[in-house]
Formats: sequence, structure tokens, C-alpha cells
Amino acid sequence: MLATNIQTQNRAIRLIMDLRTKGIQDTNVLGALERVPREHFIPEAMMDQAYEDIAVPIGLGQTISQPFIVAKMTEALELNDRHKVLEIGTGTGYQACVLSKICRRVYTIERHKPLHQYAEENFRALELRNITALCADGMKGWPKINGIDQAPFDRIIVTAAAREKPPAALLDQLAVGGIMIAPVGEAGSQVLKRYKKESEDTYSFYDVMPVRFVPLLPDVATEEESREIA
Ligand code: SAH
Repeated sequence: MLATNIQTQNRAIRLIMDLRTKGIQDTNVLGALERVPREHFIPEAMMDQAYEDIAVPIGLGQTISQPFIVAKMTEALELNDRHKVLEIGTGTGYQACVLSKICRRVYTIERHKPLHQYAEENFRALELRNITALCADGMKGWPKINGIDQAPFDRIIVTAAAREKPPAALLDQLAVGGIMIAPVGEAGSQVLKRYKKESEDTYSFYDVMPVRFVPLLPDVATEEESREIA
């Protein structure tokens, strides 16, 4: 048991060093990745790959993102501990956990109920209490719940790719001065974009890097659709 822990620790440290070599500089980001146990999100059979810098299939037809991409997106958000962050595409919850180590509060939306539930179990098991998760259509932004509006958000991160541009509802929910990171484009030619809301109705953006994400899809998944991924 002890040997396994030391081995896991060594692998985790090696991964962090690998991310530094690949250009991740923000020590808050590296620290957050170091503190979220990625093995927690990986099926037993794939455990030896938990600390490799690769995406890993997790069942439910999903993959957990490559650590470098999680780090790069988190770094591009320029997060601090006062920020309220909205994530679209909870998936396993790994990215949300990394965010939650740096910012004040994370709101995250997933359209597949089984994934939403799996992520909630992960947040509970890791005792992360500053994450609020919802099963809904994230393309519409965070809904008012019991009359309470959480928008605007200081930061928004979208972890599924919009075809042409991110949904307008998301830019609407971004605070002025806020940053949104989102992959955009068709499968095979997606680019990660960084948007900054300059005023109530203007924003600037630039391309960060080419990426590969699953598509952003409208509406909550039907039971049948979710059964297909199970
Ligand atoms: N951030 C995740 C990886 C996300 S994979 C992690 O750390 O593991 C992308 C996820 O976006 C998928 O689970 C997909 O179901 C979800 N998704 C796609 N369109 C969505 C939408 N409109 N609203 C909410 N989630 C969506």
C-alpha cells in the first residue's frame, strides 16, 4: 500500500514536471493539478495511465481530457481565488475539481444525467464543497434557480466544441472584463479560443491552439441517448 502511494506520488510529480516542460508556467495551475488525484477519475483497468499526459477513455462513451489541455485551459483563464466560474461540459468532473482548487466557486453543467451523477459522486468523495453541478443544457447558460441568478460569471470554460461560435447566452453571462475559453470548429479542425468581454456588447478574442473535443450539443440528453453512452 505504502509502495503504491509512493509510486503514485512519483508519477504525479513526473506529470507536473512534464507539464512544465510543455510550457505550463502558472504555479497555481500546476499546484491544482498536483492536488487533484487523477487516478480517482480513471477506471481500474486503465490505472497505469492515470498520470500519463494522455486522454483516457472512462466508459460512458467519454474520455477524461489530457492533463496538458486541462492545464492550458485553466492557465488561459487567469484565475484567482475571488473568481466565480461557469463550466459547460462537466464530464467526469476532473476539470471542475482543478478549477475548484484555485477559484472561489465553480458552477458546472452536464447534459447527460449519468455523467452528472458520476461527477457529483466525485465531488463528494473528494470533499470539494465549492462546486455546484446541474444536469441541463449548458448552451443556455446557468438558469435562474428559485429566482436566484448566479450570472454574471468572472470566467467561463466550455469543454465541448461549438461549430461556429460559442452560444450567445454564454457571452451574455460573462462579466465585463471576464474571460471565456472555448473550443470552436468542426471535428478535425477545432481551435481553442480565448474571449475577453471588453464592454456590455463588445469582446475581443484570439486563438490559443488546435484541439479535439466532443461536440457541444443542444438540450438535455434523452434517457435513450444516455443509455447509448452507458
Ligand atoms: N470537462 C470534462 C470533459 C468534458 S467532455 C472533464 O474534465 O472530464 C465534454 C462534455 O460536454 C461531455 O460530457 C458532453 O456530454 C458535455 N456537453 C456537450 N454539450 C453540452 C451542453 N449543451 N450542455 C452541457 N454539457 C454538454
